Amino acid sequence: MNLRRTVSIGIALVLLILILPSVNIKAQNPIITNVFTADPAALVYKNTVYLYVGQDTAHVGVNTYQMPGWLIYSSKDMVNWKSHGTCLTPGSFLWASRAANAAQCIERNGKFYWYISVMHKNNADSKGGVAIGVAVADKPTGPFKDAIGKALITNEMTTDMKHSWDDLDPTVFIDDNGQAYLFWGNGSCKWAKLKKNMIELDGPIHTFKPKNFTEAPWIYKRKGLYYLVYAANMPETIEYCTAEKAEGPWTYRGLIQSTSENSFTTHPAIIDFKGKSYYFYHNGALPTGGGYRRSVCVENLYYNEDGTIKKVEQTKKGVIRPAK
Ligand code: CA
Repeated sequence: MNLRRTVSIGIALVLLILILPSVNIKAQNPIITNVFTADPAALVYKNTVYLYVGQDTAHVGVNTYQMPGWLIYSSKDMVNWKSHGTCLTPGSFLWASRAANAAQCIERNGKFYWYISVMHKNNADSKGGVAIGVAVADKPTGPFKDAIGKALITNEMTTDMKHSWDDLDPTVFIDDNGQAYLFWGNGSCKWAKLKKNMIELDGPIHTFKPKNFTEAPWIYKRKGLYYLVYAANMPETIEYCTAEKAEGPWTYRGLIQSTSENSFTTHPAIIDFKGKSYYFYHNGALPTGGGYRRSVCVENLYYNEDGTIKKVEQTKKGVIRPAK
């Protein structure tokens, strides 16, 4: 073999080694890039992750939320996401006026209850402001319809905060004994028990203020410990509390996520799927993205042995796939 050929093969091999990893490593975050998405909520059902988000449609330079509806995506591997389109809009609720704010869907006895926050019309039930409704379906992707025909929570039902958007951001949880809970709130965290039918409150509304609480609570239970994760401060970080019971008392545990890239809000959702834990949030990292043009991302989440949560690193490359 002559020297020239050996050098050529050597150069070709070095180039191959340099190029191959960049071909194989594809950025996953944000996980949806053809539309702007915000306020993730994830549901694990039958070997699939369903992701419920609001859509941001504000034009560049428009600094108000323009959120015409809620979208659903699904994935079996946390990497490839299938769009199920717009599955619910404020117009799905006759009592609602606009603004597809944060929402979460949960399954009970084969039915899917999607709790949403939205602007209420000024009518006999409410003078307006943000309210919480619930839609129901037989499948995780719908079709969904208003389960009650009116709001479950109106602004007037909580008065500890005086602003009209303090009843944002529902999160829902069913304990091992079957008791369901709804948590929500902006400025203070509110909670109430839900009846087994999931469409009526089962007792009074309680309010409290976890340390640094702003909005966007996410409640779940893991290995016997209850977690209340929420958006804190402004610009928002994600912080959390734990408790021995869903009804508290809650103990502050610290920071999970620093402020997100190019967005003054962010929003948590946490699931376990196929033996790994995952953490959803939003940022403004897409080209032309921003605080009103947000994008949902996902990262692996890691716990310490005592159940505390390790701080999440926000990455472009995204998650490690679960084993099949
Ligand atoms: Ca209120």
